[in-house]
Amino acid sequence: MTKQSRILQLSQLVVLVMIVVLMSVSCKMIDPDENNTGIDNNSEKENDINKQIDDNDKNDEIKDNIENTDIKDEEEVTKPVEIDYQAVKPNELGHIMVIMYHGIIDLPPYHVTEEQFLEQLQYMYDHKYRPISVRDYIDNNINIEAGYTPILFTFDDGLSSTFSLIEENGELVPKPGTAIEILERFSKSHPGFDSKAGLYINGQKIFEGAGTVEERIKWLVDNGYDVGNHTASHDKTQMLSKLDSRQIMKNIGIVDQIIKNAVPDYTVDSLAYTFGNRPVKALRNLVLDGEYNNIKYNYSVAFKEGASAPYYPPLHIKFDPLNVARARGSKGEIQDMGWFFDYYEQHPEKKYISDGNPDRVSVLEKDEDSVNKDKLGERELYLYKLNQ
Ligand SMILES: [Zn+2]
Repeated sequence: MTKQSRILQLSQLVVLVMIVVLMSVSCKMIDPDENNTGIDNNSEKENDINKQIDDNDKNDEIKDNIENTDIKDEEEVTKPVEIDYQAVKPNELGHIMVIMYHGIIDLPPYHVTEEQFLEQLQYMYDHKYRPISVRDYIDNNINIEAGYTPILFTFDDGLSSTFSLIEENGELVPKPGTAIEILERFSKSHPGFDSKAGLYINGQKIFEGAGTVEERIKWLVDNGYDVGNHTASHDKTQMLSKLDSRQIMKNIGIVDQIIKNAVPDYTVDSLAYTFGNRPVKALRNLVLDGEYNNIKYNYSVAFKEGASAPYYPPLHIKFDPLNVARARGSKGEIQDMGWFFDYYEQHPEKKYISDGNPDRVSVLEKDEDSVNKDKLGERELYLYKLNQ
């Protein structure tokens, strides 16, 4: 190689490094409300992003219009309430993060160690996050103290390090060091931080240890956890996008019936896509309603795989029940949980903040048009303005 060509190569390398540095800097400036860098492999991703940005633009227009219209009837806005709205600043249309965990092993970013998990729980506790159940998330029945932010834990794959039972004095109890045991332990020593989570199982290897599969599922449901569907197969060849309608319903129906057999009185209506992979658009409704072996199933939400955003709550008009975002329960990478915690520290106005009253939905007046009023049910919609 001549000296000249070596210099040429070197200068090309310098240019390449500069491009990479510039790209990584611009990635760090992503606003999760404006974009989606998720590792969701769906081909409509780009369309979704464009639509999201369009929607955001439209919403900004709507907000501008609302800001320009007359202020609502004074009486309606200032009727007596039991919390100081200006101090608490409740925002029950703000983001609710859904975290995707797997096992308690040293294999980031999908798994965490016990130490890391405890550290994360402590961060949440200190920063006013409080776990809610999948049931309460779906029903928008959020009953946490005023000023606090709900957070939803999900654990995929039915791993033994997530949950196993052991026998102790003739009783089945969670095995020490499993995610559920850690969560229970943390909850006991941190009042107000409930031990709630959804566990998503496949058709085989449903946890391990003592008890039958039915006893394990029953223990979880009896103790306030949700058990959901992660489809029968976790094989890449059986991803929902690759299946026809009959195969999709079988893949969902098998796990649906395992759960229903174990806990007949329990409503199983949440699903986590394996590999975050959804059925093709024409068949996607088979996630909501379907039938296998003459037994019907109905699902209310289906979770994607992280990293993805934004975390609209079920009451938001932009909430898409078949495309619910989740963040991986790790810190470090863009749009992982730790990244979002930092984001919400910078943008507290984006996150859900409870008014402490489950019968009332407190929303900033400017966001009224983003409330899905069909889902309010018996709840009162309370609109208010923040003083400047
Ligand atoms: Zn999985």
